[in-house]
Amino acid sequence: MSGIYIHIPFCKQACHYCDFHFSTTMGKKEAMVKALCKELELRKAEFSGEQVATIYFGGGTPSVLETEEIEQLIA
Ligand code: SF4
Repeated sequence: MSGIYIHIPFCKQACHYCDFHFSTTMGKKEAMVKALCKELELRKAEFSGEQVATIYFGGGTPSVLETEEIEQLIA
């Protein structure tokens, strides 16, 4: 059984104590989602014959994604 972690490196504001990788500039969010979709497509063979039990969205702040962007990643 496998799990997939998807890092969403965007936040609406920068918290001073935070060490996670993120940007408060949303200008590249669409390009990032496209790149993530491309990586998922390129690496899908790694899960060949395996059941994906979990898909975890971390960040950053995954809730900055639009519903359509999450649907693209899940698809
Ligand atoms: S990842 Fe969380 S704690 Fe870090 S800057 Fe973003 S909202 Fe703040």
